[in-house]
Amino acid sequence: MKKIFCIFAVLLVCYGVYAQKDYIRADYSVTLNGGKPEVTFSGFAADGLWSGLNMATSNGVFRFVLTDKRTGKLLYSYSFNSLFGEWVETDLSKTEEKVFLEAVRFPRPKRVSVAELFMKNSGGEYEKIFQKDVFPDSLEVKLERRTKGYKNKINIAVVPEGYDEDSMADFLSDAGRLTDAVFEYEPFKTYKKKFCIRTVLKPCSSGFSYYTFGAERYLMTDNFQAVCKAASCGGFPWDFVIVLVNSEKYGGGGIYNFYASVAAKNSAAREVLVHEFGHSFANLDDEYDEADKNKVTDCIMCRLDRDFCPVCKENIKNVLKKLFK
Ligand SMILES: [Zn+2]
Repeated sequence: MKKIFCIFAVLLVCYGVYAQKDYIRADYSVTLNGGKPEVTFSGFAADGLWSGLNMATSNGVFRFVLTDKRTGKLLYSYSFNSLFGEWVETDLSKTEEKVFLEAVRFPRPKRVSVAELFMKNSGGEYEKIFQKDVFPDSLEVKLERRTKGYKNKINIAVVPEGYDEDSMADFLSDAGRLTDAVFEYEPFKTYKKKFCIRTVLKPCSSGFSYYTFGAERYLMTDNFQAVCKAASCGGFPWDFVIVLVNSEKYGGGGIYNFYASVAAKNSAAREVLVHEFGHSFANLDDEYDEADKNKVTDCIMCRLDRDFCPVCKENIKNVLKKLFK
């Protein structure tokens, strides 16, 4: 009887390990070499439980595709933008060399699979810039403490930047105050129950700074891997990440399916976060025109004292629908 119990226990453990749906993260560095993107793979890592969401694919600069190695069947794909994707559009990239630490995340496949990354070329066509086989059984599963309520939810990790150990209560209060703002706007308000927001209560540093690409208020980091690691160190599942920077000076940024950041102590932080989350969650464009300041639209993607315009609302709704398909 004891023996049978042991076998049963072993089976249960194995089942638990292999049935676990978790994210795998592929880390890589990317730079421009002779005007072309050059990707160097760094490694795969188990990156926490997968909620079951399919990251809504839209017209991002990058497209990630995971296929079964033997059958060629498409297993997972999503589209995103990145800071490197923005860098190649700047004049600075023609004269300066810069390396970006970026990453893609995808659910662990059951069998050996092929991970491919595509980037849009100047003609708007996706061109493959990276390919690597994934051997899922060779990657250790990070067993997390039992987490409830994350499946089929949009899990958001809120990560502190520049808060020390003694400021965690302050960070928690900022996180509540700022993320609440998102749900004061439609259609997020209606879909509030679909979101699960958790905070990483550990000091983190992912290298955020102002003056990204020369723009004073553009508060970003070129180390997305550090952002992912910071989000994962909370020990809970996450699909999207918001970084609160402990600073009073106006600033922030948001990139589609990448991250959103905001200077948490600035008086406009709540509205800035809603605007940046619009970029990060739904690939919304800025509606202000740096060259023509008189061009105003009735939307928070233009002016912080506005609501989302009907077009942006529709885009957000479309993303929400696709996520749960
Ligand atoms: Zn709009």
